[in-house]
Amino acid sequence: MHYLDNAATTPVIDSVADIADKTLREHFANPSSLYALGADSEAVITQSRRELAKALSCAEKEIVFTSCGTEGNNLAIIGACNARKNWANHIVVSAYEHPSVRNVCEYLKSSGYSVTEIKPSIEGNVDVLEIINAVTPKTALVAAMHINNETGAIIDVEELARGVKKANSRTAVHVDGVQAFGKIEIKLSNSNIDSYAVSGHKINAPKGVGALYLKGGFNIKNVMHGGSQERGLRPGTENTAYIAALGLAAQIASKNTLNPVVLKQLLVDGIINIGNIEINSPQNAHPSIVNFSVLGVKSEVLLHFLEEKSIYVSSGSACSKGAKSHTLTAMGLDAKRIDSSLRVSFGRQNTQQDVVALIDAIKIGQKTLAR
Ligand code: PLP
Repeated sequence: MHYLDNAATTPVIDSVADIADKTLREHFANPSSLYALGADSEAVITQSRRELAKALSCAEKEIVFTSCGTEGNNLAIIGACNARKNWANHIVVSAYEHPSVRNVCEYLKSSGYSVTEIKPSIEGNVDVLEIINAVTPKTALVAAMHINNETGAIIDVEELARGVKKANSRTAVHVDGVQAFGKIEIKLSNSNIDSYAVSGHKINAPKGVGALYLKGGFNIKNVMHGGSQERGLRPGTENTAYIAALGLAAQIASKNTLNPVVLKQLLVDGIINIGNIEINSPQNAHPSIVNFSVLGVKSEVLLHFLEEKSIYVSSGSACSKGAKSHTLTAMGLDAKRIDSSLRVSFGRQNTQQDVVALIDAIKIGQKTLAR
């Protein structure tokens, strides 16, 4: 099997599955219980929080465990906007955000917010200065994704946050770091970023667990209401086993940042050699994600042809379930190029053999499937 869809999700590595299993069996007690068994469960969470804080270079108290990246984005964005409601009515985002940011902004429009979307260039990059220049005295929040999930385009979020704070010191800066965690090192305590969302299943931990960095002193209002877990910001009994898994996966990922430049080069050289293929990712994209169009062959047709050969890629983002790519549309690419686009995303387990198998299969697919 050649699994090349790691931006959709990653396989759970054995040691991470083992720690989840062990925690499920040995630390079933409620972490809030006052007896020693509960304290032992709480200690598992504390240890994991320490790992997340190390991986993101921030204080332990700045980490809130969540159920996923989507929840982190919702909590940070709605929480920041609700805390700024009495003076602000405006949000600025890139035009290629994930639905877990884009649809939250759409929802906030019903509470009176207007949303400015900054489009990427046709090459796929968003200009940080354009985002900063859109900030007004009434801007509650700027949100931008660190690595785009469809093309791998990178936004320099530290430069962005510096500029936003200069333009309006009260504006919150939220970063969707789901695709960047474990791929780009970040020192959050030294930055002007107020919140940064990550997700377990993109770094070889299970689905259904994530974390949100919230800068100390950052002004945010509760979105959910319940118990006092996670400082009341994410109430509900903690998923101790998955939190333990996330902690270990974060430790492993940050010791070995994913940077598959050799695999990317091999892929790009191979597909350019085949001909009639356009690369959609910007040149300076992160090497873990390569988006390209096999002109004349519909994405889904080629995807299933590859699947028959046990090669797994995506026709866009997994969340859009075959819908037209939002990012490629925002870039202004033509419909034919969008309809024939594929996304290959590398993970820690991939080898050159995976890439060679893919190139060989695309060669055959292009010949046999072209309309
Ligand atoms: N943000 C980005 C950039 C993503 O790629 C994803 C998932 O694909 C998410 C957010 C949502 O993360 P989760 O699936 O953990 O809710």
